[in-house]
Amino acid sequence: MRRRIGIYGGTFDPVHNGHFKVAEAALDAFALDRMLFIPAFAPPHKRKQNISSPFHRLAMLALATADSPRMFVSTIELESPSRPYTIETLGRLQAELQPVRLFFVMGADSFRDVTSWREYEAILSGYDVIVATRPGSHVGGNGGIAGHLAPQLQKRITDLRGAAYPSSRDLANEDPESPRIYLTDYVAVDVSATGVREAVEQGRSIDEMVPPPVAAYIEKYDLYRKT
Ligand code: ATP
Repeated sequence: MRRRIGIYGGTFDPVHNGHFKVAEAALDAFALDRMLFIPAFAPPHKRKQNISSPFHRLAMLALATADSPRMFVSTIELESPSRPYTIETLGRLQAELQPVRLFFVMGADSFRDVTSWREYEAILSGYDVIVATRPGSHVGGNGGIAGHLAPQLQKRITDLRGAAYPSSRDLANEDPESPRIYLTDYVAVDVSATGVREAVEQGRSIDEMVPPPVAAYIEKYDLYRKT
């Protein structure tokens, strides 16, 4: 049987409790062996923003996952000279980790914008995808959340909202030709990295938003405070 690995890509500036809760729920619901957090160099849609150094973002991820035996951080994108797109990273991991079944995790906001991603059809049809609904991002029926996708991609959707866990048939799906797009709402954590950065800037506490070592790191290295 193929190992099952979750892939959680993002900017992680910083990693926060929303990411963490989504990862925990996906690990449990999909019986994943591990979750790989993959910080991006500077994702195409965020290149104009002021993003913290990849080293800081990586350090915070390492601190946040240090005590979680099933959560790992991968430097595959940060170490690549070519600043890879998601589809390239998935292809590399698929080749390097095989036999493996990769589950790509994304929030509902990313899913809504996915049609702007490089080769998004190849991502959505070549890999299992777990979409985590996110407070504030509009969802709705299948038509609402996936209305932007072509019918052949919509056919791949398995709607698990309402807290249903995937069936043993879904989990045992060993057919590499038929990955699914799973819509989930296991957790609803109203935290964003933007919210964390704003709270720091305004001098508000972030203790409810990020794990303690991440809060300590942000304070120690004086991140997100405008001078
Ligand atoms: P920012 O506020 O800077 O845009 P972010 O909080 O969205 O950041 P990212 O690192 O950009 O964090 O997100 C990585 C992935 O995690 C994306 O797919 C995003 O949709 C998802 N995500 C982030 N926060 C949540 C959350 N609270 N619930 C579900 N998914 C989330």
